[in-house]
Amino acid sequence: MTHQHRPWGYSNSVDGQTPQWDLHEDTLAVRAGVARSGFGETGEAMYLTSGFTYDSAEQAVHAFADEVDHYLYGRFANPTVTMFEQRLAAIEGAPLCVGTGSGMSAMFASVACLVSQGDHIVAAASMFSSCWVVLAEILPKWGVTVEFVDGNDPAQWAAALNKPTKVVFIETPSNPMLAIVDIRMVSDLAHKVGATVIVDNVMASPIMQKPLQLGADVVMYSTTKHIDGQGRVLGGAILGSEDYIKNHLNPFIRHTGPTLSAFNAWVLVKSLETLSMRVVRMNENALAVAQFLETVPSVTSVNYPFLPSHPSYELAKSQMGGGGSTLSFEVAGGQAHLFKVMNALRVIDISNNLGDSKSLITHPFSTTHRRLDEKLKASMGITQSLARLSLGLEHSSDLIKDLELAFKG
Ligand SMILES: *Cc1c(COP(=O)(O)O)cnc(C)c1O
Repeated sequence: MTHQHRPWGYSNSVDGQTPQWDLHEDTLAVRAGVARSGFGETGEAMYLTSGFTYDSAEQAVHAFADEVDHYLYGRFANPTVTMFEQRLAAIEGAPLCVGTGSGMSAMFASVACLVSQGDHIVAAASMFSSCWVVLAEILPKWGVTVEFVDGNDPAQWAAALNKPTKVVFIETPSNPMLAIVDIRMVSDLAHKVGATVIVDNVMASPIMQKPLQLGADVVMYSTTKHIDGQGRVLGGAILGSEDYIKNHLNPFIRHTGPTLSAFNAWVLVKSLETLSMRVVRMNENALAVAQFLETVPSVTSVNYPFLPSHPSYELAKSQMGGGGSTLSFEVAGGQAHLFKVMNALRVIDISNNLGDSKSLITHPFSTTHRRLDEKLKASMGITQSLARLSLGLEHSSDLIKDLELAFKG
């Protein structure tokens, strides 16, 4: 049996089943990418197979020569993984998507497939610590130069992007400071010097920000975060143009093997069906909690892009549909007071994950960003008094009550 044509792929190819109008992304989140087997199942099938068979030796020859649409081997592609990739591409509005085993393998492959010895990368300094390690430590060992700028400072971007540059890497909003980078402004500057702009869109999710529409070339995700969003599986994804995926990313990925498993892809394809509902609710909860925290006397600052007090509030409003599920805040009394508050929480869990249906709080200084040296942490704003709080799907009244009582001690 050859696998069935994928009628709802983003290509929107008309084959008698595809509607003649542009579908809303909430519809695509449920319908895109479905490739039914011969049984007409409603739930997406999970193809747990490492290999595929051929009707003849000649068919295998043609398959390997890329002349026929036939799966070859689980490291390259799998029908369940394809369903996930096509569905996410449809939601993002991207020509193509490639799933990976984790967010970090997506981040690494998205950059590494473009650079060789002697190439130059410019990145906004405020970012997730493992992305920092890839850019500041691993790639420089291979002869790639990396320059970090303050992502909020147009003058630093202009100065850095006045020479040939291969990749510009930005995380906006950033984890855990929620700093915002102007994607349009940076993309315009980057394209003048020939750079490919890669956006880590984990914190916003595809529901709240579409970097490709703002001029970026490539978007990457940790699907572990909002896309699964229920604390079950690791995964990643990279989205971009046909040229980028076919000529740069795929040749790199096929041979280095950061493959997304069929099981995880199956969990993720079903998660996409509820992504927008979940993310909208999490954003509402985050805004309500951010507003509450601004009224707590011992909270000295709250970082949330959709609070008017955020330094990039106007920019955030112009490029995002919501402020995201995650905020950070600082308390008076340093780490001792903060730990007391965290330990007194009864609903919110202490955990370093984010984008989950369960609200989670962490102390980046001593956990996620522990590995970075003190000076760097200070320059990023990651102090001992800073907590990162990811808001989940509980009712906001319970989350606010939990925090209120914890602060009262
Ligand atoms: C979690 C995270 C990653 C890494 O994703 P994993 O799935 O944990 O590998 C990358 N970037 C950001 C912004 C993240 O929050």
